[in-house]
Amino acid sequence: MAEVTRLHVARRLERCTVLGPGVRAVIWVQGCPLSCRGCVAAETLPFEGGTPLAVPELTDWLCRLPDIEGVTLSGGEPFAQAGALAELLDAVRARRPEFSAMAYSGYRHEALRDGSPERRALLERLDLLVDGPYVAARHAALRWRGSANQRLIALGDRYAHVPAEPDTSAGVEVSVEPDGSLSWAGVPPTPGFREGLEEQLAARGFVLRAEARREA
Ligand code: SF4
Repeated sequence: MAEVTRLHVARRLERCTVLGPGVRAVIWVQGCPLSCRGCVAAETLPFEGGTPLAVPELTDWLCRLPDIEGVTLSGGEPFAQAGALAELLDAVRARRPEFSAMAYSGYRHEALRDGSPERRALLERLDLLVDGPYVAARHAALRWRGSANQRLIALGDRYAHVPAEPDTSAGVEVSVEPDGSLSWAGVPPTPGFREGLEEQLAARGFVLRAEARREA
């Protein structure tokens, strides 16, 4: 029997409006080989940890979500699990052909284009890429990005118009999880946002789930 491909996932979110165009699901993968100073998702960097989820399970999850136009792949480093993510996108699009895909990467577009077959396969399946590492010294309140070195690159026609749209921060979203805890998603417009939010919420007796958000 063929072995099922698994992804190591730090967190999933069913609906998000601040990490890409429209309403999107988000998958934060576990593990990133880079160590950007000021990374807002430090808990997603170790490759140990996260939840191993089979690609068919994630496919069903994405295909069942109503009223979303696609998925954003964040992390952690999505291109560290490129083969499994490419397989996931193929499986989802076999059932939802219009499903769009955006990904973040700490690597530059050029490096991904010249990378392994798995990395090229994932790149070929994306509609939108935010590339490059988060650089704290160049922090900026840009649309879906945390620092000025990061580029928003349309790959193909689907979002070709997007890079020309106003380039201002989309902000962050706070959600209440099924267990009553709070979590947030998005790219903080100001440095130190996460620490400040956690302090303010703790002072009011709220617990913020220590899971993945990202700045890159
Ligand atoms: S900012 Fe992005 S690329 Fe850099 S360490 Fe964090 S997850 Fe990795």
